Amino acid sequence: MTVSIALFTQDLRLHDNPVLHAARAAADQVVPLFVLDPAVEAAGFAAPNRQAFLADCLCDLDASLRRIGSRLTVRHGEPAEQTARVAAETDAVSVHVAAGVSAFAHRREARLRAVFGDRLHVHDASLTVVPAGGITPAGRDHYAVFTPYHRAWQQAPRRTVLAAPRRLDTPDGIGSANLVVAGPFSPGLPRGGETVALKRWRAWDIDGYAEIHDDLAADSTSRLSPYLHFGCLSPTWLATHAVRHDGAGAQAFVRQLAWRDFHHQVLAARPDAARHDYRTRGDHWHHDEQEAEAWRQGRTGYPIIDAGMRQLAHEGWMHNRARLLTAGFLTKSLYLDWRIGAAHFLSLLVDGDVANNQLNWQWVAGTGTDTRPNRILNPLRQADRYDPNGDYVRRWVPELADLPGPAVHRPWLFDGRYPAPVVAPEELTARFRHGRS
Ligand code: FAD
Repeated sequence: MTVSIALFTQDLRLHDNPVLHAARAAADQVVPLFVLDPAVEAAGFAAPNRQAFLADCLCDLDASLRRIGSRLTVRHGEPAEQTARVAAETDAVSVHVAAGVSAFAHRREARLRAVFGDRLHVHDASLTVVPAGGITPAGRDHYAVFTPYHRAWQQAPRRTVLAAPRRLDTPDGIGSANLVVAGPFSPGLPRGGETVALKRWRAWDIDGYAEIHDDLAADSTSRLSPYLHFGCLSPTWLATHAVRHDGAGAQAFVRQLAWRDFHHQVLAARPDAARHDYRTRGDHWHHDEQEAEAWRQGRTGYPIIDAGMRQLAHEGWMHNRARLLTAGFLTKSLYLDWRIGAAHFLSLLVDGDVANNQLNWQWVAGTGTDTRPNRILNPLRQADRYDPNGDYVRRWVPELADLPGPAVHRPWLFDGRYPAPVVAPEELTARFRHGRS
């Protein structure tokens, strides 16, 4: 009997999983393995919301594997070391893992390579539709602008979608650990796992997406981001299925998947962009911890900003338009360093992802890939446009529930019960213009 190891990382699913597929083709038996790496915790990346979601994902994966004759082995420790132990226990001939893009994933892969040499097989296009580095502009190692990337992405060859295995044999007697999860958690956290993800995808109405995805109150986006982050859904499978809908909604949705790939390929080429400006603008950031805290708490005095921040605290998730507004407010109206905001988002977001979070923050701050780095999203104009009846604000800022219609966006015009704006409406662009010039 030959044995291979399928080392799961951000691909916690049975459907369309190149790692599982290859591990199964390589040997008679497969050990599906997940390693809880203390370095993730030490780096502050194991936020309680994501740990809770991960625990759901691992339970669901184990249950699905058991249905096909296998089970998940979970270990704690340095991934290469733990994988080597499992390999020694089972005489495994090969190890299969998905290619990652973060500095962390690169390090893990290098350590696995040092231990396993050519017995390690790294599989592309598990975490993204088009592998990072799979398409490049002439003379560069990555695309720095989305539009040409998107054009090339649409033409790029796609790998075949893989069916979930119907049977998987796994050797007996391999010890497994539990994931212990400690809060505090957001009360409205979604449940994790491939089963919930597939249900959510089937229940979601993609057809209206193009027209309504920016409407804050309608809340009609897919909410699939956490499932994509943990790989409960394959982006390649999603892109293939979405395209079958063949309408404006499907096109707009697939374009968002391209944005996701875009940020992954930027991070793969520039892992330093997780911490440093991708394109520095020589900002002299303002420092004010009280303002930063008012923003984190959802008490800036701007209800549209506060609503977004409160949604984040409650659900561990925020609507994309609200992410744009709250991030724009922090970096361009308060003119506070984007890293302060990115860190707070990562401490709560259940879809918190180094590529998508840090690079979207940089896009908004104008230190990233935005071709108009000085654009400013005025929160009041944006509120009037994307929450025209004020329903999103009333949902998340109940103390203003009695203010009718769009009046809720400017409580200072009515009475003094709501916090005064941290920065006056007429000063919303002043610090940024002064600081960046
Ligand atoms: P949908 O609108 O249904 O889109 C489908 C999928 O496309 C999403 O699930 C997501 O995987 C991808 N997608 C959509 N928009 C983007 C985008 N702008 N960039 C990259 N991928 C995108 N997304 C994350 O997954 N993790 C993050 O940590 C994250 N942080 C962000 C921080 C800021 C400041 C901003 C402005 C955006 C951030 N985003 C992040 C992108 C986007 O806001 C979320 O992916 C989206 O809101 C998730 O909701 P949804 O699944 O309903 O998206």
